[in-house]
Amino acid sequence: MIEVDALDVHYGDFQALFGVSLSLARGRALALAGANGAGKTTLLRALMGAHLPSAGTVRYEGADVTALPPHDRVRRGIAMVPEGRRLFPSLTAEENIKVGAVRAASPDWPLARIYDFLPLAATVRDRRASALSGGERQAVAIARALASGPRLLLLDEISLGLAPGVVEQVYEVVRGLRESGATLLIVEQDLDRALGACDDVVCLLEGRVALTSETAAASREDVVAAYFGTE
Ligand code: ATP
Repeated sequence: MIEVDALDVHYGDFQALFGVSLSLARGRALALAGANGAGKTTLLRALMGAHLPSAGTVRYEGADVTALPPHDRVRRGIAMVPEGRRLFPSLTAEENIKVGAVRAASPDWPLARIYDFLPLAATVRDRRASALSGGERQAVAIARALASGPRLLLLDEISLGLAPGVVEQVYEVVRGLRESGATLLIVEQDLDRALGACDDVVCLLEGRVALTSETAAASREDVVAAYFGTE
Protein backbone atom coordinates (compact mmCIF):
# COMPACT_ATOMS: atom_id res chain seq x y z
CA MET A 1 0.00 0.00 0.00
CA ILE A 2 2.84 2.38 0.83
CA GLU A 3 6.45 1.97 -0.18
CA VAL A 4 9.18 4.30 0.97
CA ASP A 5 12.48 4.05 -0.82
CA ALA A 6 15.78 5.64 0.24
CA LEU A 7 14.24 8.75 1.75
CA ASP A 8 16.50 11.62 2.82
CA VAL A 9 14.92 14.54 4.68
CA HIS A 10 16.64 17.77 5.65
CA TYR A 11 15.71 20.75 7.78
CA GLY A 12 17.98 23.35 6.21
CA ASP A 13 21.50 21.98 6.58
CA PHE A 14 20.46 19.45 9.19
CA GLN A 15 19.75 15.96 7.86
CA ALA A 16 17.03 14.21 9.87
CA LEU A 17 16.52 11.04 7.75
CA PHE A 18 19.14 9.03 5.88
CA GLY A 19 18.06 6.59 3.16
CA VAL A 20 14.95 5.38 4.99
CA SER A 21 13.07 2.54 3.28
CA LEU A 22 10.03 0.62 4.43
CA SER A 23 6.91 -0.94 3.03
CA LEU A 24 3.51 -1.53 4.50
CA ALA A 25 0.91 -3.83 2.95
CA ARG A 26 -2.84 -3.13 2.97
CA GLY A 27 -4.61 -4.01 6.22
CA ARG A 28 -1.42 -4.29 8.25
CA ALA A 29 -0.28 -2.18 11.19
CA LEU A 30 3.33 -1.03 11.44
CA ALA A 31 4.90 0.30 14.63
CA LEU A 32 7.51 2.98 14.09
CA ALA A 33 9.76 2.95 17.15
CA GLY A 34 12.81 4.96 18.15
CA ALA A 35 14.14 7.32 20.80
CA ASN A 36 13.37 11.04 20.98
CA GLY A 37 14.76 12.76 17.92
CA ALA A 38 15.21 9.54 15.92
CA GLY A 39 13.12 11.00 13.09
CA LYS A 40 9.72 9.32 13.55
CA THR A 41 7.62 12.47 13.28
CA THR A 42 9.76 13.66 10.39
CA LEU A 43 9.01 10.43 8.50
CA LEU A 44 5.26 10.77 9.10
CA ARG A 45 5.39 14.39 7.93
CA ALA A 46 7.18 13.30 4.76
CA LEU A 47 4.52 10.60 4.15
CA MET A 48 1.78 13.19 4.64
CA GLY A 49 3.51 15.74 2.38
CA ALA A 50 3.94 18.29 5.16
CA HIS A 51 7.72 18.25 4.64
CA LEU A 52 9.15 17.19 1.28
CA PRO A 53 12.16 14.86 1.14
CA SER A 54 15.41 15.89 -0.52
CA ALA A 55 15.88 12.43 -2.06
CA GLY A 56 14.03 9.13 -2.36
CA THR A 57 10.46 8.21 -3.28
CA VAL A 58 7.12 7.53 -1.62
CA ARG A 59 4.72 5.30 -3.56
CA TYR A 60 1.14 4.93 -2.39
CA GLU A 61 -1.37 2.54 -3.98
CA GLY A 62 1.00 2.19 -6.92
CA ALA A 63 1.45 5.92 -7.64
CA ASP A 64 4.46 8.12 -6.95
CA VAL A 65 3.20 10.69 -4.41
CA THR A 66 6.62 11.95 -3.29
CA ALA A 67 5.99 15.57 -4.32
CA LEU A 68 2.21 15.79 -3.78
CA PRO A 69 0.91 18.40 -1.31
CA PRO A 70 -0.93 17.16 1.81
CA HIS A 71 -4.47 17.90 0.53
CA ASP A 72 -3.90 15.70 -2.53
CA ARG A 73 -2.77 12.87 -0.26
CA VAL A 74 -5.84 13.32 1.94
CA ARG A 75 -8.00 13.03 -1.17
CA ARG A 76 -6.21 9.78 -2.01
CA GLY A 77 -6.99 8.38 1.44
CA ILE A 78 -4.03 9.21 3.69
CA ALA A 79 -4.74 10.90 7.04
CA MET A 80 -2.61 11.78 10.04
CA VAL A 81 -3.36 12.13 13.74
CA PRO A 82 -0.58 14.54 14.72
CA GLU A 83 1.38 14.46 17.94
CA GLY A 84 -0.20 16.85 20.45
CA ARG A 85 -3.57 16.44 18.70
CA ARG A 86 -3.43 19.97 17.20
CA LEU A 87 -7.10 20.87 17.39
CA PHE A 88 -8.46 24.37 16.75
CA PRO A 89 -8.98 25.45 20.39
CA SER A 90 -11.85 27.88 19.82
CA LEU A 91 -13.86 25.51 17.61
CA THR A 92 -16.13 22.86 19.10
CA ALA A 93 -15.17 19.21 18.94
CA GLU A 94 -17.69 18.65 16.14
CA GLU A 95 -16.44 21.64 14.15
CA ASN A 96 -12.91 20.24 14.45
CA ILE A 97 -14.13 16.88 13.18
CA LYS A 98 -15.91 18.52 10.24
CA VAL A 99 -12.65 20.22 9.25
CA GLY A 100 -11.34 16.72 8.58
CA ALA A 101 -14.23 16.00 6.21
CA VAL A 102 -13.56 18.97 3.92
CA ARG A 103 -11.53 16.99 1.39
CA ALA A 104 -12.82 13.54 2.21
CA ALA A 105 -11.39 10.65 0.19
CA SER A 106 -14.52 8.57 0.69
CA PRO A 107 -17.96 8.80 2.36
CA ASP A 108 -17.11 5.77 4.50
CA TRP A 109 -17.01 7.68 7.77
CA PRO A 110 -20.07 9.94 8.14
CA LEU A 111 -20.46 11.67 11.52
CA ALA A 112 -22.95 9.08 12.79
CA ARG A 113 -20.50 6.22 12.20
CA ILE A 114 -17.65 8.20 13.77
CA TYR A 115 -19.73 8.86 16.88
CA ASP A 116 -20.73 5.20 17.09
CA PHE A 117 -17.10 4.24 16.87
CA LEU A 118 -15.84 6.96 19.24
CA PRO A 119 -18.54 7.56 21.88
CA LEU A 120 -16.15 9.84 23.78
CA ALA A 121 -16.04 12.24 20.82
CA ALA A 122 -19.85 12.16 20.64
CA THR A 123 -20.17 13.06 24.32
CA VAL A 124 -18.08 16.23 23.93
CA ARG A 125 -19.23 17.21 20.42
CA ASP A 126 -20.58 20.65 21.47
CA ARG A 127 -17.69 21.62 23.71
CA ARG A 128 -14.81 23.82 22.66
CA ALA A 129 -11.59 21.92 22.03
CA SER A 130 -9.77 24.15 24.55
CA ALA A 131 -12.01 22.77 27.33
CA LEU A 132 -11.34 19.09 26.63
CA SER A 133 -9.17 16.66 28.59
CA GLY A 134 -6.21 14.92 26.94
CA GLY A 135 -8.18 11.74 26.29
CA GLU A 136 -11.13 13.67 24.86
CA ARG A 137 -8.81 15.62 22.58
CA GLN A 138 -7.22 12.41 21.37
CA ALA A 139 -10.64 10.95 20.57
CA VAL A 140 -11.55 14.11 18.63
CA ALA A 141 -8.21 14.10 16.78
CA ILE A 142 -8.80 10.49 15.69
CA ALA A 143 -12.38 11.38 14.74
CA ARG A 144 -11.12 14.28 12.61
CA ALA A 145 -8.73 11.96 10.78
CA LEU A 146 -11.50 9.40 10.20
CA ALA A 147 -13.79 12.11 8.81
CA SER A 148 -11.51 12.27 5.75
CA GLY A 149 -12.34 8.63 4.95
CA PRO A 150 -8.76 7.36 5.08
CA ARG A 151 -7.44 3.99 3.94
CA LEU A 152 -4.03 4.69 5.49
CA LEU A 153 -3.84 6.30 8.93
CA LEU A 154 -0.64 7.76 10.38
CA LEU A 155 -0.87 7.97 14.18
CA ASP A 156 1.79 10.00 16.01
CA GLU A 157 2.30 9.34 19.74
CA ILE A 158 -1.36 8.75 20.42
CA SER A 159 -0.84 7.69 24.03
CA LEU A 160 1.56 10.47 25.04
CA GLY A 161 0.48 12.25 28.22
CA LEU A 162 -2.66 10.18 28.73
CA ALA A 163 -3.61 8.33 31.91
CA PRO A 164 -3.17 4.53 31.66
CA GLY A 165 -6.93 3.85 31.56
CA VAL A 166 -7.36 6.36 28.74
CA VAL A 167 -4.45 4.82 26.81
CA GLU A 168 -6.29 1.51 27.04
CA GLN A 169 -9.39 3.14 25.50
CA VAL A 170 -7.32 4.68 22.71
CA TYR A 171 -5.82 1.29 21.88
CA GLU A 172 -9.28 -0.26 21.83
CA VAL A 173 -10.03 2.27 19.11
CA VAL A 174 -6.86 1.16 17.31
CA ARG A 175 -8.02 -2.47 17.46
CA GLY A 176 -11.39 -1.38 16.08
CA LEU A 177 -9.67 0.46 13.23
CA ARG A 178 -7.74 -2.67 12.37
CA GLU A 179 -10.93 -4.69 12.29
CA SER A 180 -12.44 -2.09 9.95
CA GLY A 181 -9.63 -2.88 7.48
CA ALA A 182 -7.60 0.34 7.85
CA THR A 183 -3.84 0.25 7.26
CA LEU A 184 -2.01 1.84 10.18
CA LEU A 185 1.40 3.34 10.80
CA ILE A 186 1.78 4.01 14.51
CA VAL A 187 4.50 6.00 16.26
CA GLU A 188 4.57 4.81 19.84
CA GLN A 189 7.18 5.32 22.58
CA ASP A 190 5.79 2.43 24.63
CA LEU A 191 7.54 -0.52 23.00
CA ASP A 192 5.40 -3.24 24.53
CA ARG A 193 2.24 -1.54 23.44
CA ALA A 194 3.62 -0.96 19.95
CA LEU A 195 4.69 -4.57 19.56
CA GLY A 196 1.39 -5.81 20.97
CA ALA A 197 -0.76 -3.73 18.64
CA CYS A 198 1.15 -4.11 15.34
CA ASP A 199 2.15 -6.76 12.78
CA ASP A 200 5.42 -5.13 11.77
CA VAL A 201 8.03 -2.97 13.46
CA VAL A 202 10.56 -0.53 12.06
CA CYS A 203 13.02 1.00 14.47
CA LEU A 204 14.76 4.28 13.63
CA LEU A 205 18.07 5.23 15.17
CA GLU A 206 19.42 8.72 14.53
CA GLY A 207 17.55 9.00 11.24
CA ARG A 208 18.41 5.53 9.91
CA VAL A 209 16.48 2.27 9.88
CA ALA A 210 18.06 0.06 12.54
CA LEU A 211 15.55 -2.81 12.43
CA THR A 212 12.73 -4.03 10.18
CA SER A 213 10.80 -7.11 11.23
CA GLU A 214 7.46 -8.72 11.76
CA THR A 215 6.70 -8.16 15.43
CA ALA A 216 6.19 -11.91 15.92
CA ALA A 217 9.73 -12.56 14.66
CA ALA A 218 11.52 -9.84 16.66
CA SER A 219 12.45 -10.42 20.26
CA ARG A 220 11.93 -7.54 22.64
CA GLU A 221 15.73 -7.52 23.14
CA ASP A 222 16.30 -7.06 19.37
CA VAL A 223 13.99 -4.06 19.34
CA VAL A 224 15.48 -2.54 22.49
CA ALA A 225 19.00 -2.94 21.03
CA ALA A 226 17.92 -1.22 17.79
CA TYR A 227 16.16 1.49 19.78
CA PHE A 228 19.26 2.37 21.79
CA GLY A 229 21.86 1.45 19.17
CA THR A 230 23.43 -1.24 21.34
CA GLU A 231 24.32 -4.68 20.03
P1 ATP B 1 10.14 12.74 19.24
O1 ATP B 1 9.83 11.43 19.84
O2 ATP B 1 10.89 13.65 20.16
O3 ATP B 1 8.99 13.41 18.56
P2 ATP B 1 11.09 11.95 16.65
O4 ATP B 1 11.69 10.61 16.49
O5 ATP B 1 9.69 12.13 16.17
O6 ATP B 1 11.23 12.42 18.13
P3 ATP B 1 11.68 14.15 14.94
O7 ATP B 1 10.74 15.08 15.62
O8 ATP B 1 11.30 13.62 13.62
O9 ATP B 1 12.04 12.95 15.89
O10 ATP B 1 13.10 14.89 14.83
C1 ATP B 1 14.21 14.32 14.17
C2 ATP B 1 15.36 15.30 14.19
O11 ATP B 1 15.01 16.44 13.39
C3 ATP B 1 15.66 15.85 15.58
O12 ATP B 1 17.06 15.99 15.70
C4 ATP B 1 14.99 17.20 15.61
O13 ATP B 1 15.67 18.09 16.45
C5 ATP B 1 15.09 17.63 14.16
N1 ATP B 1 13.96 18.49 13.77
C6 ATP B 1 12.65 18.16 13.84
N2 ATP B 1 11.87 19.17 13.38
C7 ATP B 1 12.72 20.15 13.01
C8 ATP B 1 12.55 21.46 12.46
N3 ATP B 1 11.34 21.95 12.17
N4 ATP B 1 13.66 22.19 12.21
C9 ATP B 1 14.90 21.69 12.49
N5 ATP B 1 15.14 20.48 13.00
C10 ATP B 1 14.08 19.70 13.27
